[in-house]
Amino acid sequence: MTTAPRPPPDPDHDPVPAAHGHVLVVEDDPRIAALVRDYLADAGYDVTVAGTAADALASSRRHRPDLVVLDLGLPDRDGLDVARDLRRDDTVPIVMLTARSDELDRVLGLEVGADDYVVKPFSPREVVARVRAVLRRVELEHRPQDRTRVGEVVLDRSARTLTTSGDPVDLTATEFDLVATLMDQPGRVFTRAQLLDAVHGVSFESYERTIDAHVKNVRRKLEADPARPRHVLTVHGVGYRFADD
Ligand code: CA
Repeated sequence: MTTAPRPPPDPDHDPVPAAHGHVLVVEDDPRIAALVRDYLADAGYDVTVAGTAADALASSRRHRPDLVVLDLGLPDRDGLDVARDLRRDDTVPIVMLTARSDELDRVLGLEVGADDYVVKPFSPREVVARVRAVLRRVELEHRPQDRTRVGEVVLDRSARTLTTSGDPVDLTATEFDLVATLMDQPGRVFTRAQLLDAVHGVSFESYERTIDAHVKNVRRKLEADPARPRHVLTVHGVGYRFADD
């Protein structure tokens, strides 16, 4: 892969909000690939480049990118076939690069459904803008709802409050994070290590029992009868789950 010089600083850049994510760029023209790679890297993304369909699929399996920039005209296979294969095991967002605007019907057809496209010749800045917009959209779609209700228990993430039958439950920050994690996926069993990871960001096996102490406190505050909890349930030998009634 040839190394293109870094693009000059761009005065039109919005004061760069730290971009993050891994982008796979699939493009057989090394000059275009390098240009797109450099601009995306400059915007803060990790970038992998693949020059063929075969490379693209292998790389996608290995790196699990957050988004794929995919050239429609590849030497070994049609870009739409590649898109179909990428989407087979993943819902990864795709921004298509196409040389002809009359291909757009195919690109945006329901059959494959690229999330966005850029027509060549394009400015690399435009590609970065599309990538950023698609990732932002996907992130918003996947962001957990601000409010979650399970039975009479209501969790409000932005206000960081928990109520049961309308009565506020006074939780510490750690207890709140613990309940929020459990309520994100009611019914799902979490191990102590996963819960510790969620509330402290790191998991040490020897500290997993501290989760039990937090759970005990949460039950004392939330449950009508802490000895017979109806919300935060113990899954013996595994961990805890929030009852999904
Ligand atoms: Ca091409």
